[in-house]
Amino acid sequence: MNRCPYCGYPAYAYALECAKCHFPLTRGGTLYSPAKTPWIGAERALEIRRKALAVLALGLLLKVYWGGYGPWPVISPPALDHLRSWLEPLFTEGGAAAYAAGWVLRFF
Ligand SMILES: [Zn+2]
Repeated sequence: MNRCPYCGYPAYAYALECAKCHFPLTRGGTLYSPAKTPWIGAERALEIRRKALAVLALGLLLKVYWGGYGPWPVISPPALDHLRSWLEPLFTEGGAAAYAAGWVLRFF
């Protein structure tokens, strides 16, 4: 028995798509839909999303612990504060954008 590469749900060998998430399983192709090699693929898209989530979590940690959102005083010299001002949006917004991109890329 095969498994869906996207959600891991069991699938019959002759299944055209996953019964749970409808992810297409016809990598080998059929008579009516010839084989296509995926550009990114579900596995690599999942890997992109996992890394993006780690970057996003790091950005949120930066925001909370360094950005003054906690009940503690923030000791930040101006030079480091300048670093934080572009590092924080890069990680949070970049991580969110990369996660969204990884979500879309699983279909390609
Ligand atoms: Zn599935």
